[in-house]
Amino acid sequence: MRKINIFDTTLRDGEQSAGVNLNLQEKLEIARQLERLRVDIIEAGFPAASKGDFQAVKQIAETVKTCSVTGLSRLVQSDIDTAWEALKGGAEPRLHLFIATSPIHMIHKLRMTPEQVIETAVESVKYAKRYFPIVQWSAEDACRSELPFLAKIITEVIKAGATVINIPDTVGYITPKEYGNIFTFLRNNVPNIEKVSLSAHCHDDLGMAVVNSLAAIEHGATQVEGTINGIGERAGNAALEEIAVALYIRKDYYQAETRLNLQEIKRTSNLVSKLTGMVIPPNKAVVGKNAFAHESGIHQDGVLKEKTTYEIISPELVGVQSNSMVLGKHSGRHALRNRVEELGYTLSDEEINQLFVRFKELADKKKDITDDDLVALIFEEKFDHFKDFYQLSSIQVQYGTNQIPTAVVVLKDGEGNEIQEAATGAGSVEALYNTLERCFKTPVTLLDYRIESVSGGRDALAQVFVKVRVNDIETSGRGTAQDVLEASAKAYINAVNRVFMIETMRMENQKVAMQ
Ligand SMILES: [Zn+2]
Repeated sequence: MRKINIFDTTLRDGEQSAGVNLNLQEKLEIARQLERLRVDIIEAGFPAASKGDFQAVKQIAETVKTCSVTGLSRLVQSDIDTAWEALKGGAEPRLHLFIATSPIHMIHKLRMTPEQVIETAVESVKYAKRYFPIVQWSAEDACRSELPFLAKIITEVIKAGATVINIPDTVGYITPKEYGNIFTFLRNNVPNIEKVSLSAHCHDDLGMAVVNSLAAIEHGATQVEGTINGIGERAGNAALEEIAVALYIRKDYYQAETRLNLQEIKRTSNLVSKLTGMVIPPNKAVVGKNAFAHESGIHQDGVLKEKTTYEIISPELVGVQSNSMVLGKHSGRHALRNRVEELGYTLSDEEINQLFVRFKELADKKKDITDDDLVALIFEEKFDHFKDFYQLSSIQVQYGTNQIPTAVVVLKDGEGNEIQEAATGAGSVEALYNTLERCFKTPVTLLDYRIESVSGGRDALAQVFVKVRVNDIETSGRGTAQDVLEASAKAYINAVNRVFMIETMRMENQKVAMQ
């Protein structure tokens, strides 16, 4: 069996999805989970892009012990220096260099001749090799590049010391057969190709990212890049969980394997979906809610008699659990801590204490606290607090079928000042959001609003997801509470706090740039 390396770029390409802005805590949590999933390489960000990116990459490199951590870099010495500073504390530092090789990109974007592109690529790889034992080089827009040129530049960067060559289908244009042919062509036309491992990186604009990645594996790629749930630029990247499960279920055909712990797939998928606010379609392969639901009577009958009649993947394989543990009013701190650890979260003593208070409050109102409830509480405790920005003190909303809905809100700002406002709206949520907008003193555009119950039952927790735009920044937010209006308020505040966090980071970057 050939070993295929899984290169996860959820935190770099995935984070480039429209409206996704993860904070440091959230990125670290995803990185820890990717380590549990046993991906081989985590691309943690683009260290030279911003101070926030640099910090995130550095902390992830220092935290993760059993995967290699990498960062993206342009072919610029200062980018490479910054990347080394961010990555040097990692278990197996590697650099991901990229430059475009297609005529369209070289002429219009880079304004460089093909010779200049080769020269810059060679210089940068040599420079990077001073620091990094492993240097991956990517030919951006490889699939629209001329193959002889691609072979030529790859030959040169391998001579310069590159150890992994990535062939991205940056714009999601290629078909499986063509993509496979590129790999075969390179294996036949790059004389030193045996020295490196070949990597595939596909986008899903035509819905072919996963099949293209699998075609690359059939034609000699030993690394595939992608994201959890296939999130990413535009239509997204190849969904890693689908590739891994396809290789596993059809190992008779592909004769290749990964080192992933497939049982961690569902948890990873849920975590990424919740933290990014990107919903998983119910019919999505491997991780969709309906992926294991048999609806037709004939199918149900077959599955009851013998599962494999209609079920090629067992839910257990990817970690879908049918029974979830329940905690209640009488569960103690110890039981709570155990369950939190079993769910895979690491919380400090202080966080556990805070969580325990919230847990007890909820247990007074709700009989059974399920794993999903607990995860929602952990999220609130761990990720949803922006201590330096707005906090909700109280809300009051009046609604009646013959009344104008009115809301009163009290917030605390980052300096601890109280802000109180009131406003009306056509509905309760609008009244609430109009009031909050007054508190923020800045226009907020609501782009999306979603509400769901965390688990079943009338006493379930409500979870609200919003997407907002403030000035030119688009971001999402979430809030959890037993009451839908409180959850709505929290989600809105969470989203706006993220905007302020991004603005603060931008200002810091400008200061750094000016120094
Ligand atoms: Zn990409």
